[in-house]
Amino acid sequence: MNQGTKPSIIWLNVFIFTSSFLLAFVATPIYAYYNPLGSEHWIWLLLTFSFCNLSITAGYHRLWSHKAYNAHPALRFIFALGGAFALQNSALHWSSDHRIHHRHVDDNDKDPYSAKRGFWFSHIGWMLRHYKPATYNDYGNCRDLQKDNILMWQHKHYIVLALIMNIGVPLLLGVIYGDIIGMLLMVGAVRLTLSHHTTFFINSLAHIWGSQPYTEKNTARDNGFLAIFTFGEGYHNYHHIFENDYRNGIYWWQYDPTKWFIKTCSLLGLAHKLRVSPQAKIEKAKALMLRKKAESKIATLHNYHAIKEHLEAEYDALIERMAEYYDSKKQLIENKKDTLSKKYELALLNVQHKQIKMQFEHQKRVWNRLVLQYV
Ligand SMILES: [Zn+2]
Ligand SMILES: [Zn+2]
Repeated sequence: MNQGTKPSIIWLNVFIFTSSFLLAFVATPIYAYYNPLGSEHWIWLLLTFSFCNLSITAGYHRLWSHKAYNAHPALRFIFALGGAFALQNSALHWSSDHRIHHRHVDDNDKDPYSAKRGFWFSHIGWMLRHYKPATYNDYGNCRDLQKDNILMWQHKHYIVLALIMNIGVPLLLGVIYGDIIGMLLMVGAVRLTLSHHTTFFINSLAHIWGSQPYTEKNTARDNGFLAIFTFGEGYHNYHHIFENDYRNGIYWWQYDPTKWFIKTCSLLGLAHKLRVSPQAKIEKAKALMLRKKAESKIATLHNYHAIKEHLEAEYDALIERMAEYYDSKKQLIENKKDTLSKKYELALLNVQHKQIKMQFEHQKRVWNRLVLQYV
């Protein structure tokens, strides 16, 4: 595309991104050199940065865009303020864009921040020009969200809220601690720049750098390192296939503070109906990916057909054992709930379930041993 055909520049966005970046990385170090910062500057930077990013990840993303759980009005109000503080447009606008991203991922014409258009475009470039003028007024893909009074209140008063949060909060802290310029720089510019770019990494780096354990139908990647800066959103390959799961990092050891935050909120009664994807579906997706990877690796071997047949047979056996195991688990749970079921029936089911579980685990070992030779 040559210069003449490019859509016009959105000067307000260019100004916001450039000025906050220069204030954060040029003005702040100079100011700090002459006026050393105290621990309060760093603590408030960390607190407000976390507030902004969690409002985006737990609020804008997992709650509103994906309906991964339901939240108490108090929590939604906090997210509405934090989202305006993060300066990433209203939750309604953000969710509308994000739903299009999932629906048309990697489609250069439809995905608003398609990773196939390169790092710069998916990171920030898509916000610097009027690429999609027509999609920004009806929010037809967010009819459900338009019933949320708090979200609509934020949408209506977004500019005022964004100004109050971005100027009012640092100013107030500056008055309290007696350093207005220092707080405006640290809690204003540095916090905003870090919050912006760590969130933008999810659209750019999390579609470029990392592994694809669940699907290769799109560019999304799992990246534990990125998860550190993105409050757990680095497990993006999982997220793109199981988008309504309130978790992105599904294993206990995967760093996903957003998942822990939502779980804590549910224990406090602030969140409920947390959605998780069925374990059977997750394991099946993983096994299928391993099979695909192995098949592409063996394609050049002389005994390709024999190995492929062997892989297929063990994969089919795995899926069969997996289905048996999860069926039996479901039956056992239902029986335990049913207080009328007799004790010996339950004991019998328990014995059967243990056998099925052993068979499934045995088949998993066989499968892993075989497939890991080739991937
Ligand atoms: Zn994505
Ligand atoms: Zn998403």
